[in-house]
Amino acid sequence: MAVFALAAVILWVSARDSGSAMEGSAATAHLQAMLPPVRHPAPIIQPRLQLIPEPTLPVPEISPAVTVQRVSATYDDASSEAGEAGPEAISDETIDPTVDALLARALRSDTPTEEERETNADYSILGETVPAGTARRLTWSASETFAGTSIPTAVLVVHGKKPGPVLCLTAAVHGDELNGIETVRQVIHDLDPERLKGTVIGVPIVNLQGFHRNSRYLPDRRDLNRFFPGNPDGSSASRIAYSLFNGVILHCDALVDLHTGSFHRTNLPQLRADLSNPGVVELTAGFGATVILHSDGGVGTLRRSAVEAGIPAVTLEAGAPQQVNSESVDHSVKSIHTLLDTMDMYNRRSFWGNPEPAYYQSRWVRADHGGILSGKVKLGRRVAPGEVLGTVIDPISNEQADIVSPFRGRVIGMALDQFVMPGYATFHIGIESEVEEITEDSQAIDLDHVAAEYPEERESTD
Ligand SMILES: [Zn+2]
Repeated sequence: MAVFALAAVILWVSARDSGSAMEGSAATAHLQAMLPPVRHPAPIIQPRLQLIPEPTLPVPEISPAVTVQRVSATYDDASSEAGEAGPEAISDETIDPTVDALLARALRSDTPTEEERETNADYSILGETVPAGTARRLTWSASETFAGTSIPTAVLVVHGKKPGPVLCLTAAVHGDELNGIETVRQVIHDLDPERLKGTVIGVPIVNLQGFHRNSRYLPDRRDLNRFFPGNPDGSSASRIAYSLFNGVILHCDALVDLHTGSFHRTNLPQLRADLSNPGVVELTAGFGATVILHSDGGVGTLRRSAVEAGIPAVTLEAGAPQQVNSESVDHSVKSIHTLLDTMDMYNRRSFWGNPEPAYYQSRWVRADHGGILSGKVKLGRRVAPGEVLGTVIDPISNEQADIVSPFRGRVIGMALDQFVMPGYATFHIGIESEVEEITEDSQAIDLDHVAAEYPEERESTD
């Protein structure tokens, strides 16, 4: 817990210092009142005590508080059991008393439409209740360690004032993929629940055990993203997958699972999506100018399991593992902002035109010689057949060998400069084609589940 709290502080401090693209100080202040930055051991409820309600945050007495009366549309089962709900449907709720929030509210004082008057019901998840127009930090408990202590994992829930869909964001299913963690933080903490229609659920660090060890895997070297939807009686990985899938994912109307390239490779921000599924295609259309790569996702991936459960899901890949890359994070945040806008959940009236193409096929170009790889192209570069992508230099003989693109297309992923062996997958080319069609061949290109000669390549992405 202490390590997690420390990590949270580091993430918070680093993001604050980097001057992120937060907009709307009123929204930020409002949300921070509900999800205050953690400086000390996080106020996380121990899972065994989850029936004890989290204490409500104190309201500062010095500010002019605005009190409204709110009628709950439904009663939460859990709180009914605890004897808390019942006939008193009317509850007092003190809303953000800050000057910024009052000003912002005054500026939006148009006559409310019928839809705007509609108040959302309370939201129940993980045995807790989140009232409309609020945000809460809940915990999901994945498994127990040998010591019998469970590891509480943060689940951030922003429940909008108005009804709407439930969008879920998961990150660090692979524990060393950091860009998604920062993306979820920026998206969640920039939301004003008063303006949100529907619910946004963020699980910033799914694989907390891997994250603590800066590792892609669980402690037993299993890849969690091969075990969804999980099994309550299976292996440790299978139980963790089952717990997340049933506790959180099945509550989602749409899912964005955030990843990065793996093993010293980096990805152009891109969606991986099963373009044979109409619901998924509709979801991909909401992300703005982001490249789409068709892939149905391997068996056991969170994305594929969600789609098979009827929940449209995509993977958003951006950047490389083990580092936080601000360009990748900025793109991902902008993509999800655009999605929230498209889904009519959070209107920023922003428009992100010039949609990027969808690639129905892609290929990895491999090195034929061993040596030091020196990339000659950047991510996103359009390449023609015969174009030099990089050079491999033998450190002993000084022999140099070019890696040449056999395809016309776009560099959507590439290995970082490093020592490579012959056969190492170095440049990932999205192939432009006249016909948008899904072929059997399309499935073979995704390194998701390709067994390569090198064990570290076996599970490369997604
Ligand atoms: Zn991943």
